Amino acid sequence: MCGIIGYVGKNQALPILINGLEKLEYRGYDSTGIAIYSQNRIVIKKSQGRLNELRKIVNMSTESNIGIGHTRWATHGKPSDANSHPHTDENTTFAVVHNGIIENFLDLKESLIKNGHTFKSDTDTEVIAHLLAQNHTDDVKNTIIKTLTMLKGSFALGIMYKETPRTLYAVRKDSPLVIGITDTEKYIASDTFAISNYTQNILLPDNNQIAEITAEKVVLYDTDKHIIPIKTIKIEQNFADNSKGVYAHYMMKEIMEQPQIFEKTVISHLHNNKIVFENLGISFKSIERIQIIGCGSAYYAGWVGKNVMEKLLKLPVEVCIASEYRYQNPITDNKTLAILISQSGETADTLAALKEAIRLGSKSLAIVNVKDSSISRESDNVIYTSAGTEVAVATTKAYTSQLAVLYLLAIYIAEKIEVINADEYTKYIEELRLMPRKIETVLKLNNAINNIAKNNTEFSNIFYNARKYAINSL
Ligand code: GLU
Repeated sequence: MCGIIGYVGKNQALPILINGLEKLEYRGYDSTGIAIYSQNRIVIKKSQGRLNELRKIVNMSTESNIGIGHTRWATHGKPSDANSHPHTDENTTFAVVHNGIIENFLDLKESLIKNGHTFKSDTDTEVIAHLLAQNHTDDVKNTIIKTLTMLKGSFALGIMYKETPRTLYAVRKDSPLVIGITDTEKYIASDTFAISNYTQNILLPDNNQIAEITAEKVVLYDTDKHIIPIKTIKIEQNFADNSKGVYAHYMMKEIMEQPQIFEKTVISHLHNNKIVFENLGISFKSIERIQIIGCGSAYYAGWVGKNVMEKLLKLPVEVCIASEYRYQNPITDNKTLAILISQSGETADTLAALKEAIRLGSKSLAIVNVKDSSISRESDNVIYTSAGTEVAVATTKAYTSQLAVLYLLAIYIAEKIEVINADEYTKYIEELRLMPRKIETVLKLNNAINNIAKNNTEFSNIFYNARKYAINSL
């Protein structure tokens, strides 16, 4: 989950790119880099390591009104200066930043080498820059479209072209990319967090739509060069989550926010002590089976959900690893409810699993934290958690809020399918409302927990054992 940032407008690009990269740091990375247009050429600076390494080699007084930046999380080729993005062709006619994986890069690389191209990195990404150069025609849109049709895999791309120094190009397929719009400035980014302090007016391009972006306007094309109408959404400006406050680091801050986040998530779905999920169009009485699908921590949240739901609903609940779902011939039908869990709403494997579940006829329900994210848009039904932006890579409060929603959902469905009575319903909700105070009690053990951690630093793995639920009486 690394990041892309891009800018074109009347202001200096460099500070905006560096600030954007800083905002993207939370997604994790091993290298950073930028490309700007200066003195009639594309200038690249990139470095393995933290953003400070890049700061050391960038001359912040270089003037430019356009640029792209990248935080890399290596998938192909070790973290190194050469493998850092942006990547270019031999003549630096094109500069490319890429999130994702080009699955057919070996075949493409082989044929590009046969055609005389020389490579400077071990990345899959570099083939894109060379392909753009090879497919180069006077109309850069044709060049990008032709290149696009040759790529297999998932990608979000920011592209600069030497001959159009006032235009950025962006395209995505199964990787997130947003475009921020003001009258005189435009931004591209992997998530709205990176640009929400500049604009709240956001365009979410679909797969394979090519964005031609200048300071004045964005034009979106499909691969037949038909112009697609621009529809923007409004996001909230994200100040609150943007500082560590009194805490030494974001993870500590986010751990400490858990009681408040759990409470907020529960309360946001309660009206007069009744659970309300807006716009849920599922007839739960027809559901015979539930599949909870997620990656990493969301998958673990799914296991808690399974235990609670099986106990309450007496329905079979499977928990599936999202990355495997589409390869394992899932047994599903229109009596199956697929619950997709993702903090960002952009987890590529969870999105692919969602599409597969829908294709096979399942009812779908997404539990996501980020409004208007890809998963929330593709799913038939959505429940939002209220975790706010989670900056630390290791999840804490987002996971806690997923649990809160899973508990609420279990109680909600139980009431709808009439397997609990009114007293049980009220009691379970009351117990959930007590949870934040219980979490606080645990967090007060902070110093003692810190000491235990310090005394056990020689172990590389620790297993935690526990049983029972946030609803104590279950
Ligand atoms: N696959 C590309 C690489 O290894 C991009 C990885 C990323 O998304 O940062 O360089």
